[in-house]
Amino acid sequence: MSADVIIIGAGIVGAACAYELARLGTTVLVLDARLGSATNAGMGHLVLMDDNPAELTLSNESLATWREWAPRMGADCGFNHCGTLWVAADEEEMSAAEEKSARLKAHGVPCQLLDARALAAAEPALRPGLTGALKVGTDSMVYAPNAARWLLAQAPKMITVEAQTVTAIEGTCVRLADGSQRSAGAVLLAAGIHSTKFCPELPIRPKKGHIAITDRYPGMISHQLVELGYIKSSHHSTGSSVAFNVQPRPTGQLMIGSSRQFDTTDPAIEPDMLARMLRRTVDYLPGLNDLTVIRSWTGFRAATPDSLPLIGRHPEREGLWLAAGHEGLGATTAPGTARLLAAQMTGSVPPFDSAPYLPIRFLAA
Ligand SMILES: Cc1cc2nc3c(=O)[nH]c(=O)nc-3n(C[C@H](O)[C@H](O)[C@H](O)COP(=O)(O)OP(=O)(O)OC[C@H]3O[C@@H](n4cnc5c(N)ncnc54)[C@H](O)[C@@H]3O)c2cc1C
Repeated sequence: MSADVIIIGAGIVGAACAYELARLGTTVLVLDARLGSATNAGMGHLVLMDDNPAELTLSNESLATWREWAPRMGADCGFNHCGTLWVAADEEEMSAAEEKSARLKAHGVPCQLLDARALAAAEPALRPGLTGALKVGTDSMVYAPNAARWLLAQAPKMITVEAQTVTAIEGTCVRLADGSQRSAGAVLLAAGIHSTKFCPELPIRPKKGHIAITDRYPGMISHQLVELGYIKSSHHSTGSSVAFNVQPRPTGQLMIGSSRQFDTTDPAIEPDMLARMLRRTVDYLPGLNDLTVIRSWTGFRAATPDSLPLIGRHPEREGLWLAAGHEGLGATTAPGTARLLAAQMTGSVPPFDSAPYLPIRFLAA
C-alpha cells in the first residue's frame, strides 16, 4: 500500500509531522537513514524564545503541545518541567530581563523577576554577586530522540518507518540507496541540515555546537540555567561564541552547553572550543571544577538567515513540502511546526498564522 505522504527524516521534526498528519487521517511512510541527527545531539531544552513575534508564537504554541503530550510519554522521554532561569550578571542584563519579562507577560506567559537574594536562594550553586534572573516556569526539557520514537509509535496503522537512505527526490517519487523507489501523493523533506542535499537552493547553513555531560550529582541545580548574554550570542551569523547554559538531567547529571560556530562541517570535538565553553560554565557555577565530565560531543543546527524555520510548500517543486531549518530550537518547536505543516498539507485551518515560516519568503515562486 502506498502512503499519502512520504517523510524524509525521523528526527524530532519529521516524527512530530508524522504524528500530526496521522492524527488528521493521513497515512505516512517515514524514511530515515540515521545519518547523524541534530535530535540526537541537542540539549532538549523546551524553551520559550521571543527574539521576534513569530519565534514567540511558534515556541509558545509548541510548549503548550509538549505539556499536553507529557503525561502520555514514557519515563524514558525524560520530560521534566524544570523551568528556566535567565541569569543576569549585571545591571544591563537585568534591564534585558525586565524587558523580556514585559514582553512575555504581554503575551500571557507567566514569569517572575528574581533579585540577587532570591536567585541565590533558588540556585545556591551559582557564584555570588550575580544581579538577578528571570524565571520562566513554563519551560521544560525532554530527551528528544526518545520523544521522536514515542511520536512515531503512536499510530501504528497510519505511520510506517523504514530504515532507508534517500538518494533523490523526483516529483512525488523518492529513490533509495538500495535501488528501489517509493512514491506517494506528496513528499515532506524534514532532513535537517541534510535537506540541502536534495534542495541546494534552501538557505540553510550548518551551525556547529559542543555539548558536555557530567557524572551524576543529584540536586546541584534544579532549573535550566542560561545567561542572558545567550540571546545575543545565539544569533551571531559569523564566527564562534559560547554561552553559559546548563541543564539538570533527571539522572542527576548536568548537561553543559553551548557553543556556536559557522563555517565548519567537521564534527570533531575542538578542545579549545570545549575548554572555552567549560570555562564560561565554571565562571557561573564554580563547583563544576570539582565535577567529572564523562562525555562530550558535537552536532549541527540547521540555521536560516532569519532564524525561523521553513514550514510549508516548496514554491518551485510540485508535491514537495518542507519542514527544516529549525536551528537551535527544533526540539522546542517541532509540535507547532507539525501542526502548521499538517494543516497546510490537509487543507485545514492552521492553528496560527503560517506566513512568517513559509519557504516562499526565500524561494521565488
Ligand atoms: C548542540 C545542539 C544543541 C541543541 N539544543 C537544543 C535545545 O536545547 N532545545 C531545542 O529546542 N533545540 C536544540 N537544538 C536544535 C534541535 O536539536 C534541532 O533543531 C532539531 O533536532 C532538528 O530536528 P530535525 O528533525 O529537523 O533534524 P534532525 O534531527 O537532524 O533529523 C534529520 C533526520 O534526517 C535523516 N536524513 C538525512 N538525510 C537523509 C537521507 N538522505 N535519507 C534518509 N534520511 C535522511 C537523518 O538521519 C536525521 O535523522 C540543538 C542542536 C544542537 C546541534
